[in-house]
This record gives sequence, structure tokens and C-alpha cells, in this order.
Amino acid sequence: MAIRVAFIAAECEPWAKTGGLADVVDALARALGQLGGGALERPVDVFMPHYRGMREPAGLTRAEVRIPDPLAAGSELVVGILSVETHGYRLHLVDHPPAFDREGMYGTPDADHPDNAFRFGLLCRAALERLRHEERPPDLLHIHDWHAVPALLQRDAVLGHDAALAGAAVVLTIHNLAYHGWTPANRVPELGLGPGALPRGADGLDLLRAGIERADLVNTVSPGFAAEALTPAMGMGLDPALRARGDRFIGILNGLDTDLWDPATDEALAAPYSQADRSGKARCRKALLATLGLDPADPGPVLAMIGRLDRQKGFDILAEAAPSLLERGFRLAVLGTGSHEVVAPLRAVALSPAALSRIALEERFDRDLARQMYAGADGFLMPSRFEPCGTGQMIALRYGTPPIVRATGGLRDTVIDVDTRPGAGTGFSFEGETAAELTAACARFADRFERGGAAWEALLERGMAIDFDWRSSSAPAYLDAYRRAIGLTQMPRITSR
Ligand code: ADP
Repeated sequence: MAIRVAFIAAECEPWAKTGGLADVVDALARALGQLGGGALERPVDVFMPHYRGMREPAGLTRAEVRIPDPLAAGSELVVGILSVETHGYRLHLVDHPPAFDREGMYGTPDADHPDNAFRFGLLCRAALERLRHEERPPDLLHIHDWHAVPALLQRDAVLGHDAALAGAAVVLTIHNLAYHGWTPANRVPELGLGPGALPRGADGLDLLRAGIERADLVNTVSPGFAAEALTPAMGMGLDPALRARGDRFIGILNGLDTDLWDPATDEALAAPYSQADRSGKARCRKALLATLGLDPADPGPVLAMIGRLDRQKGFDILAEAAPSLLERGFRLAVLGTGSHEVVAPLRAVALSPAALSRIALEERFDRDLARQMYAGADGFLMPSRFEPCGTGQMIALRYGTPPIVRATGGLRDTVIDVDTRPGAGTGFSFEGETAAELTAACARFADRFERGGAAWEALLERGMAIDFDWRSSSAPAYLDAYRRAIGLTQMPRITSR
């Protein structure tokens, strides 16, 4: 049976992005539509907020839905939905200026928006309102991270009677276990769940936990992280809830959109290159050094790091390692947005005399520069404390830039250490969350980089040859999960007596 699928998410590339969530939502929606065998009844519907300053596709048409105003009993809000079929899916931007026409998708660099419960509750309720009036309601609602969990709760709390939605199976994907969408008790009414949303005496609602408990199937974005998330050390307080779901909690490794991320066609690059002909990479390197003001005469390897400025990503570990890396001859190119505090130690090193023309630190979101860095750097750093999957290392591999990663979660699943498995390795990995271990891995990188030759070229080639295409295994795995979830909701409920 061809199924109808709808996504609700806070980000989707190229319209609005802070991290990998956006890459996944976009690429998975498109890949599902491209799977053969008529798997989907029609393209996936993707609901996301209409943020200020976001990219907008051409041809949007506007419709409106009316939803109950969670802040004023008995009143309604009129919410716009801007829709267009584009990029292989049907994009719907939920348009409500009081919620989304402001700086910052989630908050300012200093704090989350205090009314995020209202904002994402509204996203979800508007999406449900639209879906339930469609001729063919969805068989499967795929909700991404805590921002979309209110849809599941609203459906059950206030739309449970609604025949169009009651039968939909719900799959929750956890892209980041660290963000729970904690909603304090005084903010819970903003979620639009009606009375009784909060158990008596509770001081708030952990949205991610509620989603884990109630979705028909829950997954995270790599098998490695799925296993780690079950442990108290890595479960971020949700490991008991995840363990309780038994085999209804699974790991599905993310893919990569190999059409969007392809050095042979990437228009941001100074020169195209491919696995068969990598000569353009040297030109990309030269152009990158010029762009970042790094000395072209310096022979030292250039390591790039790109990511949200969040403790998770280990910018502080890099900052601690930076003086010894400079001493060993490395240069660093760093691009990120988020908390200024997270990058302050690195900025301090970047201002030291030893770092002059050797560390470039760019605090902004810049899609083209990111691409130029994946292509032009010699190595790519991801010293993450935890990593549900990680996108950067996959892009780096595809761009022939060996990753240096901490062996955790999806990084462990996608990067093979070349010194451990010389004939199969694709990068460098280290275990401990320490500057010393990062420095040691970088030293192994430098040894091989400086030796160069056929062994170095083979390392790059193995990385570039990996098939990360969503259509090969990740999207089919989601389709299997959808079918399983639908089957689970159709099973007669077994009641204990
Ligand atoms: P996470 O999802 O935890 O943010 P990932 O590695 O999965 O981390 O994905 C990060 C994605 O966001 C990659 O595509 C990366 O290139 C991109 N990215 C992160 N920060 C920036 C930035 N400042 N400018 C451009 N792209 C960025």
C-alpha cells in the first residue's frame, strides 16, 4: 500500500538551518519521494515555521487555518500556511508573525525564547489542522525532535476524536537527545493541550520524554548512538524512558544528500573535483587560504571545524589543544554560530601572536564558506562530546578531507581509524574527551599528511568512495520503520485483565 507521510520539524535546508536536523529533514523527504515501487502515495508534506529572514521558495500560495488560541480560552487564531511543491516534497511554512517574525529560530545567543512552547505548539497545531482537512489524511506523522512533539500530545489530548488523525501512526526521530523542550508548568498551557496536560504536582513537561513515551516508534540517527543513549552515562536522563520502549527504539544511520554535497558540481568551490580527478582540490585549498587570510607560504596542514557553538561539539577541547597544534605546525579554520561563550577560549588563542595568520575564526552562518572549508581544508575536526550522527564528517569524507573525530555515537559508526585498520581506514579517531587525545590524533594525521604519497591518496579515495546516498539504505530503513509503525497501530490492542 502506498502511504502518505507528513513531517513536522523546526528546520529544513535550504530554507532555515542551524544544524544537521535541517539537512536530514530536507534530504529524507526528497529521498522518500524518489524510492521506487510507488512507496509513497504522494510527495512528503513538510511543515516548518515561517521564520524571519528565511530563504523562501518561489510560487508559495497562502491558505489559512483557524486554531484555538491557547492563551485566550474561547478565541481563535488565524494562522497562515504558505505552501509550494519544491525540491521533491510539499513545503508548508506556518506563518504567524507574533510567533516567528523575530530574531533567532530558537532564541538569542544568550537565551532561548521564553515562549517556545507557544511557538512550536502553534506550529504543530496549525499543521494538524491543515492535515485533518485534507482529502487523504496522513498514514504516518513523522515528528522531528522536541519541537514537533506537541503535535502528538495535541492529537491525543484535544483531537483524539478526529477520525482523520486518530489512525495516523507516529514516528519520533531524536536528532539531539540533549534538547528536551523542557516546559515549566506556567508555560504548559501555551502548548494548546487543554486542561489536565500536566500530572498533578509536576513542575513542568519534558516534551522529548513525552514523545518517547507515546510515539509508536522512536529512533535516533545512528545505531551507535542508539546503544549509547540507553546508558545512564549518555542517556541525558531519558535512558529509562528509552529502555522502556524495548525494540520500539531503534537507530537508523543518517545518509547524506550526495547531489547537494558533491565536489564535482558544488558551485561554491573555486574548482570542481571528483574521486577520479582530485586536481581541483589544490585550487580549493589555495582559494580558502586567501579567503581566510591564512599564509599561502606556510606548509602546515589546515584543519577545519564547522558547527553550532555548543558545548557538545568540543570547541573548548580544541581551544585547549590549539597551542600545541600551532606548535606542531597546524593551521585552524573554524566556522560556527551559537553561544559566544563557547568560543571565547578559542578566540583568546586566536588573538595570541603565535596564531597570527594561522587561526581563522568566523562567527557566522555561511553556507558557501562551509563548502569551501570542507573542500579546501586538509583535515576536518569533530571532537564532539556526544554525536547522535553528525553530518560534517560525512561531508568531509565525500570532499576528500579526512575527518579527525572523537569515537562516539554516529562518528564511531561512520569513520574508520586508518592506523587501526590501515587498508580500510577513512580518517582518525580518538576515545577520550581530552585535548591530549585530540592532539595525539592530530599528530598521527600530520605524520601521514607529511608522508603523503600513495597511502595518503588511498585514504582520501576510500573516504570519497563511501556511499552515503539516502536512497541506498537510510530512506529505505525509514520506510520500513513507517510500515512497522503503521502495522503496530493497526494491531488489535492487547489488554491485560
Ligand atoms: P548538528 O546537527 O549537531 O548541528 P551536524 O554535524 O549533524 O551537527 O550538522 C551540522 C550541519 O550544519 C552541517 O551541514 C554543517 O556544515 C552545518 N553548519 C553548522 N554550522 C554552520 C555555520 N556556521 N555555517 C555554515 N554551515 C554550518
